[in-house]
Amino acid sequence: MTEVNPYKMAIKQIDVVAPYLDVDEGILEKLRYPRRELTVHCPVKMDDGSLKVFKGYRVTHNDTRGPAKGGLRYHPSVDLDEVKALAMWMTWKAAVVNIPYGGAKGGVKCNPPEMSQAELEKVTRRFTWEIAPLIGPESDILAPDVYTNPQVMAWIMDTYSMLKGYSVPGVVTGKPLELGGSVGRFEATGKGVLIAVQKVAEHLKLSIKGARVVVQGCGNVGGTSARYFSRAGARVIAISDSKGGLYNSQGLDIERTLDCKSRYKCLMTEKVEAEVISNKDLLELECDILVPAALGNQITAENAPRLKCRLVAEGANGPTEPEADEILVDKGIFVLPDILANAGGVTVSYFEWVQNLQELLWTEEDVSDRLHKIMTTAVADVMKISRERKVPMRTAAYILGVGRVAKATQLRGLYP
Ligand code: GLU
Repeated sequence: MTEVNPYKMAIKQIDVVAPYLDVDEGILEKLRYPRRELTVHCPVKMDDGSLKVFKGYRVTHNDTRGPAKGGLRYHPSVDLDEVKALAMWMTWKAAVVNIPYGGAKGGVKCNPPEMSQAELEKVTRRFTWEIAPLIGPESDILAPDVYTNPQVMAWIMDTYSMLKGYSVPGVVTGKPLELGGSVGRFEATGKGVLIAVQKVAEHLKLSIKGARVVVQGCGNVGGTSARYFSRAGARVIAISDSKGGLYNSQGLDIERTLDCKSRYKCLMTEKVEAEVISNKDLLELECDILVPAALGNQITAENAPRLKCRLVAEGANGPTEPEADEILVDKGIFVLPDILANAGGVTVSYFEWVQNLQELLWTEEDVSDRLHKIMTTAVADVMKISRERKVPMRTAAYILGVGRVAKATQLRGLYP
């Protein structure tokens, strides 16, 4: 079965909500395209002395409501259509949580687990230099995504600052705390997933305490979500990384599992009580809450009929293909869509940027309270639309997100 092209999938999602939006079709046509897409080639001298050229992209989908904002992904599967889709989803995500940003995304086609720190630093610095004309605290702000982290953000900030001649912390978020990063940013996406689930759990009469949770992915989003669910009293019965997963019907010792993962860079059955499970089987486990928090296109028309969960909370971007989405709706599975469920990350990125611009330092409590307020408001807004218009949560989130951007576009008008 061929994978759905993510950009086509993103366009299809606009088409699905078009009939619900009271906006001119011309405006929607504009929103189907990114404002800018830049492809660069980064030559890097590798540790063995050879020269390798890495292809990279930065796409600004939209900056109507504010500067473009979005992560930078390092992965072998990165291509332009994927980055275009991810940039568009950032636009809707920022609009759903009502923060004053547009959407952007970047990607470099490379495989970090096979690269040294020195090689990663060189790729990052050259890529930053190549995209420098587009980025800046007032135009386009980067952040971590798949296989990028606070250290990569520090290199981006340094390279950009050297080019400018002064320190510019606001060009990236998700920085180390020592460089103007915000408390609470690292855990924000995973924490946001839990907050969103808690908010809908009341409505679904689902108790988080004792709920069986399955998490696909063990990076920043998957790992942190698992940790927060476990702390909230849920039973995380399975978790995976790119190589496979661990399963224990009684619940995994999540702290120990994550500790081993960070120490040995892989999930290890010898260290925790669990059986090995494939990523494919993990998605089909019987559970209450399924959190796909790895890559896109994981829930497909092929495996969707076999899903046995009550709720899907999309920690990843684009994990559910449109055909699968319809199947989940038919099966009565409640889906918290990516542009809502994982919006905690960009929300705290916004807090970090605001602190950088004003040279302020907020406390953990400031960040946590504001994150809670923004996430619960967004979930309530989307649920209200879902109830009133009798549409699934994804459609409702798109009605809200695309609707806000369309309205802003209408107000600004066209230039020239
Ligand atoms: N990469 C994250 C996302 O997809 C965070 C983006 C940001 O903080 O700008 O939402």
